[in-house]
Amino acid sequence: MGDTIFHKIIEREIPADIVYEDDDVIAFRDIAPQAPVHVLFVPKAIDIPTLNDLQPSQAELVGKLVLAAIAYAKREGFAERGYRLVMNCNGDGGQTVYQLHMHLLAGAPLGHFGTP
Ligand code: 5GP
Repeated sequence: MGDTIFHKIIEREIPADIVYEDDDVIAFRDIAPQAPVHVLFVPKAIDIPTLNDLQPSQAELVGKLVLAAIAYAKREGFAERGYRLVMNCNGDGGQTVYQLHMHLLAGAPLGHFGTP
């Protein structure tokens, strides 16, 4: 395992508002939400710093992140209104925590995105 803030959350070394967890995935609210709903979906056991490190054998893991987010959106009742899933990679992508993760943003019209 690596040594990021997300690993510390997975190991319960620091607190987080955990909204979902299974054998492979943990999800918790972002500490600095960018939308009314902002949840991070993180692989629990596999250390993958960035999308660039993802191996073909780990493809299923990304599917599990997406499926967990969809299930959460349906459970919380905003799936039909809509939501956004985002994965940032490295500097230009805006990545700040180097443990693969996916953002779920929802709860209001999110507008377009891209360069400021
Ligand atoms: P990135 O910019 O790497 O795609 O996303 C990292 C996210 O982690 C940011 O949205 C940031 O607000 C969130 N974050 C950073 N530190 C913590 C923390 O200690 N707890 C939680 N819940 N979120 C964090």
